[in-house]
Amino acid sequence: MAAWLRGYVKRNGLLTLSVFAVLTGCVLGAVLRGSHLSTQAKIYFSFPGELLMRMLKMLILPLITSSLMSGLSSMEPKSCCRVGVLTVTYYLWTTFIAVVVGILLVIIIKPGVGTEMDSIRLGGGPVMTSADALLDLIRNMVPSNLIEATFQQVSNSRPMIHLPLFLISQIDPSGRTVSLELTPPPEIHYKTRPGNSQQMNVLGIVIFSATMGLLLGKMGERGAPLVNVCQCVNECVMKITNTAVWYFPFGIIFLVAGKILDMQDPSNLGKKLGWYTITVLAGLFVHGLILLPFFYLVLTQKNPFTYIRGLLQALVIALATSSSSATLPITMKCLLENCNVDRQIARFVLPVGATINMDGTALYEAVAAIFIAQVNDYELDFGQLVTISITATAASIGAAGIPQAGLVTMVIVLTSVGLPPDDITLIVAIDWVLDRFRTMINVLGDALAAGIIGHLCRKDFPRGGTCKVGSCHCL
Ligand code: ASP
Repeated sequence: MAAWLRGYVKRNGLLTLSVFAVLTGCVLGAVLRGSHLSTQAKIYFSFPGELLMRMLKMLILPLITSSLMSGLSSMEPKSCCRVGVLTVTYYLWTTFIAVVVGILLVIIIKPGVGTEMDSIRLGGGPVMTSADALLDLIRNMVPSNLIEATFQQVSNSRPMIHLPLFLISQIDPSGRTVSLELTPPPEIHYKTRPGNSQQMNVLGIVIFSATMGLLLGKMGERGAPLVNVCQCVNECVMKITNTAVWYFPFGIIFLVAGKILDMQDPSNLGKKLGWYTITVLAGLFVHGLILLPFFYLVLTQKNPFTYIRGLLQALVIALATSSSSATLPITMKCLLENCNVDRQIARFVLPVGATINMDGTALYEAVAAIFIAQVNDYELDFGQLVTISITATAASIGAAGIPQAGLVTMVIVLTSVGLPPDDITLIVAIDWVLDRFRTMINVLGDALAAGIIGHLCRKDFPRGGTCKVGSCHCL
């Protein structure tokens, strides 16, 4: 009995604790809502949650660079090419399918059609065109300064929407957020915490690390020392993750409770926003729990739900943090420890996925754009629906894996079909909830992709194979 209990706790204890923490956070937040804590008290209360986010973010940079450099350097050029092409094709395909699911559902359910909606609209500000957005995306792929890329987005076009304070409190309830820059991915500026001031240009870092990894692989013996360093860094990051996870349930309680404390009263959201929420959630459900598992089943002939069971810990962290980048270390841990995915595959497919594959975000952006068109009584023709599907896919690729990035890149989708970008304010109130669920689907999509690519390329990566970089000790 004791052995059985020990075994159970060892296997599922952390997951049980994390789920329990999410529930406790919801209850605690709901109970404390009535106590009208001051902003300062809320900041103190949310501190353990803030620490959790900081821990996760701290691991992103070393994990992405070391994974890509050690993963790619140890692949044969032919395998690299095969894995790269398969991964990017699969990511684009599933993102596009997600957008189509979203469009179909919003057209069938019509959440925005009907009686007038109380809306808060802002005066027209400067608008970013789709061409600007595309240029920014490409700019971010080529960081001019690597050090700067680790803390700052590269962007020349900086049109902004300044949100009034009551709306800002929807995005960052502690009142620290002052503006959202409409560049994909977004920059969220904070007033009081210099450490939080800017976001990493993850796309630029991924491109640079992948290029370095490929070249290191070609250098043979001469590249082996650096490959070994990357391998060591990677292992250390995973060890830090393994220790830090025991803090997560505690942090999650305060992260979730802090968010609930600041949440707008749900009864004020109105019927249309309710239907809009149902449409997005239904789309995420269909895509994440029916279509993606179906693709996994067809392509690997294995049970997708057994695989997804191994990912539950990562999904709970995604739900709690709303950040697929911050969840990356846990997703990696789940894939390696529970899902038996090849190390080299996981090291390539996951960081790339966390940067460019956001099925949940793409689906949400398409639904939100069409919802806004319906609210405005604006008829979209077939050509505009095609435009929305393409721009939603592109905007999701440009979105960073951080909380509410999709809300900001959605402006690209709106402007592409002539909808007022200020109307994102219609959906801001409910966005923090939807963000959590779409982040779960983003993480799930990356993880299932790793399982599928690993299966399709299994001949390239036989278990127990040797690394092609001379004296390096990876694998
Ligand atoms: N929060 C999402 C993520 O991190 C991005 C978004 O849709 O806002 O994956």
